[in-house]
Amino acid sequence: MSLLPDRIFGTYQEITVDFLKSEGIEAVILDVDNTLIPYEEIEPRPAVLAWINTLIEANIAISFVTNNHKHRLQYFNRNLNFPAFHDSWKPFSRNMKRAMRAMGSTPENTANIGDQIFTDTWAGKRLGMKSYLLPPIRDKRDPFTRLKRLLEKPIVRRYYAAQKEQEQKE
Ligand SMILES: [Mg+2]
Repeated sequence: MSLLPDRIFGTYQEITVDFLKSEGIEAVILDVDNTLIPYEEIEPRPAVLAWINTLIEANIAISFVTNNHKHRLQYFNRNLNFPAFHDSWKPFSRNMKRAMRAMGSTPENTANIGDQIFTDTWAGKRLGMKSYLLPPIRDKRDPFTRLKRLLEKPIVRRYYAAQKEQEQKE
């Protein structure tokens, strides 16, 4: 199993319906913190809602799987009411399986979108689903987060090296 993300994007907004359709994706599992909103915010911004709406209109199923706690996720999801799973302990993938069950999707047509390789990407890859990585919106500066980012670096570098190789072939 590789921890290499299938694609790295600049923001969630770059992940368009057209792209998802071209990849055969019919359902997405979204991380919340630093993927859709920074840690300090509690509500989805209008831009997040607008992006989510484009997915809804295209009949792409949506769910949230976060390692954060119940109250945080419930508040974020209170007007959206998507299948939502808190305290997920990603990279464990149990809640991603539950999310797929709730959406009626399979690893073949589900993508997971998150900002951390060692939680989000890993959990998704474990189940054999497409995993798209985003840079964190606003990272915490504590030593643990910094260490995680440091460990992610070689994998991100490998991704860009592979992409470059691919481009040269084309
Ligand atoms: Mg996150």
